[in-house]
Amino acid sequence: MEKITIAIDGYSSTGKSTIAKQLAKALGYVYVDSGAMYRAVTLFAMRNGFIGKDHENIQALIKLLPKIKLVFKYNKDLGYSEMYMNEENVEKEIRSLEVSKHVSRIAEIEHVRHMLVNIQKKMGVDKGIVMDGRDIGTVVFPDAELKIFMTASPEKRAYRRYKELLDKGEEVDYEDVLKNVQHRDDIDSNREFSPLRLSEDAIPFDNSDMGLEEQFERMYNYALRVIEKGQ
Ligand code: C5P
Repeated sequence: MEKITIAIDGYSSTGKSTIAKQLAKALGYVYVDSGAMYRAVTLFAMRNGFIGKDHENIQALIKLLPKIKLVFKYNKDLGYSEMYMNEENVEKEIRSLEVSKHVSRIAEIEHVRHMLVNIQKKMGVDKGIVMDGRDIGTVVFPDAELKIFMTASPEKRAYRRYKELLDKGEEVDYEDVLKNVQHRDDIDSNREFSPLRLSEDAIPFDNSDMGLEEQFERMYNYALRVIEKGQ
C-alpha cells in the first residue's frame, strides 16, 4: 500500500501527540513530535543561561545552535521515541512547565525554525510519517496528503495539561497552566515566521467534547479514506 504523510497541527495541549502516536502505530508509520525538538532547544538555552525569567541572549543561542544534536531514539518498552539532546535523554525535563513557559519565545526565532524544519523535512522524505506541531501542514509538509487542525477550548486544554503534570508529580497550579496555554496560543498564532494557522486544505477537528476512542476512530477513517483513494 502507498504510504502517505499525515500532518497534525493545532493549539497547545489539544492532545495532538496522543492521537498522532496511536495513528502512527495503527498504520505502521513513524511518529514525530516536532514540539519536542523546540522544547529541547529551549532546555539547552535555559541551561546555558540564554533565557530565563527576566533575561535572554538570543544571539548567544543562535551562535551555539550548530552544537545542538537532536535525535529521536525508539524506546521499545514505552512503544515510542524519546528525545535525546547531545546524547542525553531529555524526554522528562522538556515536558516541565518551566520549559513550556519559554518554548514559544524560542520557537519564534527564525534561525531555530530554519534548523528544525530542515531536520523535519528530511525525516519525511520516505513518507509513512505522522508529525504533529504548529506548522507541519503549512511549512514542513505542505504537500501532506492528510492535514488535521486540532482545537479545543483553552479551559479544557489547560485542565488536561494540568492533570498530566500532576500525574507526573509536578506541583502546579491550574491558573498557571491556563495562563501558559493562552500565552503560547498568542505567541504561536501571532509570530512573524510560520505562525499557527488553519490552512485551507486542513480538516478542523474540535475535540472539546470528544473522548480518545472517538478521536482515534475518526482520524483513522480519514487516513484510510485518503490511502484507499491513492491506490
Ligand atoms: O507541541 P508542544 O506543545 O510540545 O510544542 C511546544 C511549543 O513548541 C509550542 O507552543 C510552539 O511554540 C512550538 N512549536 C512550534 N512549531 C512546531 C511545534 C512546536 O513552534 N512545529
